[in-house]
Amino acid sequence: MKPIELSFEFFPPKTQDGVEKLRATRAQLAPLKPKFVSVTFGAGGSTQQGTLDTVLEMAEEGFEAAPHLSCIGSSKESLRAILGAYRAHGIRHIVALRGDLPSGMGEVGELRYASELVSFIRAEHGDWFNIEVAAYPEYHPQSRSPRADLENFVRKVQAGANSAITQYFYNGDAYFRFVADARKLGVEVPIVPGIMPITNFTQLMRFSEMCGAEVPKWIARRLESFGDDREAIRNFGLDVVTDLCRRLIDEGAPGLHFYTLNGGAATKSICERLGLDNA
Ligand code: FAD
Repeated sequence: MKPIELSFEFFPPKTQDGVEKLRATRAQLAPLKPKFVSVTFGAGGSTQQGTLDTVLEMAEEGFEAAPHLSCIGSSKESLRAILGAYRAHGIRHIVALRGDLPSGMGEVGELRYASELVSFIRAEHGDWFNIEVAAYPEYHPQSRSPRADLENFVRKVQAGANSAITQYFYNGDAYFRFVADARKLGVEVPIVPGIMPITNFTQLMRFSEMCGAEVPKWIARRLESFGDDREAIRNFGLDVVTDLCRRLIDEGAPGLHFYTLNGGAATKSICERLGLDNA
């Protein structure tokens, strides 16, 4: 199969054990030659140092490393300082988000939406950063309507995003329809599907509830029926997600962005099953 652009998302570990585990995961996934790796950012700056440290370590290892940056709960001054630190370290790729405030926590901040953050980054740094934004094939849970959400996505691209990564989904039709609708509104940037490997039923349902991604009933019921049989969950999850990825690639997705949750086994198995040889 022809090489396709892969990217892997990690979160900043909180413990030394977590740091070691993430190093091992990166070593496991490095042979797949990702175009870039990204590191999440806690809203309001809660992981600011961890994100920076993780990104710098990955950059030193030779990865193109992209920190996520969310604007909710932050002042322009603090965002300016973070962007300046990334630039000073030669980081040129960033994932720009609004983020979510933990319930009951503080003020919204000076920038209310990701489109405003993209404009801010462009105004302050011109073309220095390659900017990714988020897209929602099943629509963002807080959006007024699917149309309004699509228009808000278009606004982020018009503000200067270079490409987009989607929220995860298990229904390929939702992705292809979203891409087609965005193209009709003049969006030309790549829209890369976000892929969530399935390894744990309870965790998947919890995440999906929070972020508004749909787990189709047939998948949820099959997973539930496996109970504590982790091997069965893993195998079924690999089948389902590999089939989804194969369809996405066959029908023209520009790449795959894996939400690794800092583990490499499922992502590696899916890429192997797809016959992706990025060597
Ligand atoms: P926005 O694009 O600002 O949209 C948020 C909501 O506001 C949507 O409902 C949109 O329709 C609406 N909206 C946008 N503009 C307007 C407007 N002008 N007027 C009215 N409504 C508007 N979260 C983190 O905290 N840290 C991370 O590292 C992180 N990484 C992520 C990576 C990816 C690839 C994805 C898909 C999500 C990630 N998230 C992360 C989650 C993300 O922060 C949440 O989904 C958040 O709720 C929305 O962020 P956004 O950038 O999509 O927001």
